[in-house]
Amino acid sequence: MDKSFDVIVVGGGHAGCEAAAAAARFGARTLLVTHKVETIGEMSCNPAIGGLGKGHLVREIDALDGLMGRVIDRAGIQFRMLNRRKGPAVRGPRAQADRALYRSAMQQEILSQENLEVQAAAVNGFLQDSGRVVGVELDSGESVRCAAVVLTTGTFLRGLIHLGDKRVPAGRVGDAPAVKLAETLYESGMEMGRLKTGTPPRLDGRTIDFTVLKEQEGDAPPTPFSFLTDEIKVPQVNCHLTATTAETHAIIEKNLTKSAMYSGQIDGVGPRYCPSIEDKIVKFKERQSHQVFLEPEGLNDHLYYPNGISTSLPEAVQDAYVRSIPGLEWAKIAQYGYAIEYDYVDPRELFPSLECKRFPGLYLAGQINGTTGYEEAGAQGLMAGLNAARNAAQSAAVALDRADGYIGVMIDDLVTRGVNEPYRMFTSRAEYRLSLRADNADQRLTPRGEAFGVVGNQRMRRFTEKLERLEWCRSILNDLSLTPNEANRAGIRLNLDGVRRTALELLSIPDVDFEVLKPIWPQLSDMDPDCVEQLSNDARYRVYLDRQEADIEAFRRDEALEIPGDFDYGALSGLSNEVREKLEVHRPVTLGQAGRINGITPAALTLLLSAVRRGRSDTGQSAA
Ligand code: FAD
Repeated sequence: MDKSFDVIVVGGGHAGCEAAAAAARFGARTLLVTHKVETIGEMSCNPAIGGLGKGHLVREIDALDGLMGRVIDRAGIQFRMLNRRKGPAVRGPRAQADRALYRSAMQQEILSQENLEVQAAAVNGFLQDSGRVVGVELDSGESVRCAAVVLTTGTFLRGLIHLGDKRVPAGRVGDAPAVKLAETLYESGMEMGRLKTGTPPRLDGRTIDFTVLKEQEGDAPPTPFSFLTDEIKVPQVNCHLTATTAETHAIIEKNLTKSAMYSGQIDGVGPRYCPSIEDKIVKFKERQSHQVFLEPEGLNDHLYYPNGISTSLPEAVQDAYVRSIPGLEWAKIAQYGYAIEYDYVDPRELFPSLECKRFPGLYLAGQINGTTGYEEAGAQGLMAGLNAARNAAQSAAVALDRADGYIGVMIDDLVTRGVNEPYRMFTSRAEYRLSLRADNADQRLTPRGEAFGVVGNQRMRRFTEKLERLEWCRSILNDLSLTPNEANRAGIRLNLDGVRRTALELLSIPDVDFEVLKPIWPQLSDMDPDCVEQLSNDARYRVYLDRQEADIEAFRRDEALEIPGDFDYGALSGLSNEVREKLEVHRPVTLGQAGRINGITPAALTLLLSAVRRGRSDTGQSAA
C-alpha cells in the first residue's frame, strides 16, 4: 500500500464514516483507519436515526451529499415524522433501524467510495513536523503520513464500562478502549474532561408478551430521509409501548446504592436529556410511571431495545426491575445495560473548521468533542473531513453559520461555549427555526456543498430537477386565482374586499391547505408531494420568514467581521480583566462568535468592534 495520503480519518463510527466519505468526495486520497472493518457503522446504542433536531441534522448531512440519510433509508424498519401536528419547523423525521442492515449499508458505501482505502488498526499517536500533525502511528509501530488527520474516536478514549460495582475498560461492550491515544492527547496539553452515557439491557423478544402491549405503528407511507430516495423498500414493522410500575420504582430505589451512577464510582457527567432510569426515579419522584418503547433491533433479530430504561445497576437488579414491567414478566435479558465513561476534548480547543488551534492539521469530530448521538457525530464528521481535505489541497477552510443550518448552530455552540454535559441537538438551540426546516435542507445547503466541493454530480442533477419542479409548481399556484366571492363559494372565508388572491396566497391562510384547494383546481392533485409541502410551508410562514431574513442579515453583519488570529487583547484598553482573559482563551474568529462567549458584555463588543475596524488594538476607551 502507498503509505502516504492526503487525509487520514481515525475511527469508523458515525463521524468517521462521514469524514472519510466527505474527504474522498472532495477528491482527497483518504485512508480510514479503524479498529475493525466489521464494526464500521456500528450503532453503539439505540438502533434509530433522527428525532427532534437530530432529524434536521440528518437532512443537512444528506443535502451535503453525506451518507447517513441514504443509509437509514436502506435500513429503516419504522419511519415516523415526530411533531407532525406542530409547525413544520419543529417536525423531526425519525426511523427505527435494522442494526445489521444499517451497518452493512454503511460498509457498502465506505468500501465502494472512490479515493478511499480502509485499514483495520489502532492509532496510538501522531507524527508531527514543526508543530503540524503530518501522520499517525499505528499500534504495529508502522507510521502513515498525510497532510491532515481527522480523529473520531467516539467513546473509546480511556473508555470504562460500569455495571454495578464492576468496571471493565472498553470503548463499548465487546471493544477495547483507546488508552495510548488518550495519553497522547493528554500529553499534548489540550483541555480534556470526562463524560458518561448509558445503555439499557437488550431483551430477547421471544420472551416478551406482546399481547398485553399497545402497538405503535409507523407512518404509511414512510417519508425517506434522503432527498435522493424515492421510496422506502425495506419491510416496515411496529414497535410496542409499555411503562414502569410502582414495583419497578421500589426495586430501583431500594438498590440505588448499587448503581455505578449513584455509588460515586463515576466522575463523568451524563446526558441530562437522556437520563438513566435511576436518574428518572430520583429526579422525578412524583411520577408514578415512565414510558418504555420496545423497539425491534432488526427484521431477523429477536433482540429488543427497551428505550427509556438505560441503567448501570447490577445484573440481578436489572433482571428484577425489567420483570416488574407489564409484558416483560418473563423477559430474558440477552445483554445487560451499562454506563460508560470516556475522555473528551474541550471543543473550545477547535476553530469553527474543527481543526485544533494548537495542532494545525489535526481535526476532531463526534463524541470526542463532547457531543452525544450518531447525527451530531455524522454532521461534525462531514465538516471535519471536508476541511481536512481542503487543508490538504491548500484551499481555505469552510464553515456553516447559525443561519445556514443546524450544523452551523451545533459547531458554533461547541467551539464557542464548550460543553459541561454531553451535547445533543434540539430545535430550541436554533435562532432561525422557521428558515432551518428539515424539508428545505437541500435548498439551504446543496448549492453551498457544491461550492465547497463535497457534492457529487448525481446529487446536483437531482437537486436541479427538483428546483425546476418547484418553480413549475410555484408558477401554477401564482397563475390560479379567485375573487373573494368565488373563494367564499368554495368554502374559504375571506373579506369581501374585491382583491383576487392567487392559490399561493390562499395557502398562507390558516386552515387552507392543498386538500382545500384540490377540489377547486383538480390539476393540483398531480403536483409532486415534496414541492407541495415546501410551497405550503413557505406560504404559511411568509410574513415571519421575511422578518427572519432581516434578523439573519443583521446577524451576518457581525459574523462577517473577522478578528485577526493574532489580535492583541492585552493592548485593548478598557476591557475588564475577566473579559480580556476570556477573549484570550477563546480567541473568537469573528465578532459574532465573540458576542456568544458567556460573560462578554455589549460594551466589550463595542470596543472590540471599533478596534478591529480600525485595524489596531489601542483604542483607549472606557471600562467594559
Ligand atoms: P463511535 O460511533 O463510538 O465510533 C468510534 C470509532 O472509532 C469506532 O469505530 C472505534 O473502533 C474507532 N476507534 C476509536 N479509537 C480508535 C483508535 N485509537 N484507532 C482506531 N480506531 C479507533 N447516543 C445518544 O444519542 N443517546 C444515547 O443514549 C447514547 N447512549 C450510548 C450508550 C453507550 C453505552 C454508548 C457506547 C454510546 C451511546 N451513545 C448514545 C452515543 C453514540 O453511540 C455516539 O454518540 C456515536 O456513536 C458517536 O459517534 P462517533 O463516530 O463519535 O463514535
